[in-house]
Amino acid sequence: MLTVNHDGVSVESDLAGGLLECPGCRGRLRPWGWARERLIRHGTGAGRFLLRHRPRRGRCAGCAATHVLLEAGLAARRADTAAVIAAAVEAKTAAGHGHRRIASWLGRPASTVRGWLRAFAASAVPIAEVFTALAHRDGADAAGLWPAPEPTPAGRALAAVTAYASVLAERFAVAALPWHSAGLAAAGPFFFSTGRWHGGVQHELALTPEIRGGKGEGSTG
Ligand SMILES: [Zn+2]
Repeated sequence: MLTVNHDGVSVESDLAGGLLECPGCRGRLRPWGWARERLIRHGTGAGRFLLRHRPRRGRCAGCAATHVLLEAGLAARRADTAAVIAAAVEAKTAAGHGHRRIASWLGRPASTVRGWLRAFAASAVPIAEVFTALAHRDGADAAGLWPAPEPTPAGRALAAVTAYASVLAERFAVAALPWHSAGLAAAGPFFFSTGRWHGGVQHELALTPEIRGGKGEGSTG
């Protein structure tokens, strides 16, 4: 599974043009049907709604593995959009709210929200390390992007991913990039899963995540 642009048209043209890379062997992915349809919960509170998503699938011309191409707004194995999960993480990390309060605000089961928060907290140390390194590597003047030091690992993780999102937004000349989009673009669809950060999911960090329709610039940019 890999994270791709949310614009289906650009994904099609990238697939057709052999521009998408196999996360296993870096071979070229070719169109290979569609993955199983999934029903995803969008929005929060009274603004909740369900949408069907049917991700494209690609097959590697090199190793023949097939990969689900998940759009950047969705996280692997989650029935809610990345924006909703991110809102829960922010409410916990920045505002200190408990999972029950967050769950009732979002209109989601408390156990689901607790699972998201635990996964993020359990992955916070490696997330902070990786995204701090990415922000320093890719940010020409990243110093100005860093907020005050955060007291908790989850706070440091959130700050690091947010700083990297600022670096990417500047680089791709977009007004703002949500931190969860930067997280998914760089770390892949399992960004919100503990397995991603503790050896369970192999996925190389994208060197130049695609933020808009076009391909990224050179990795050493
Ligand atoms: Zn491959």
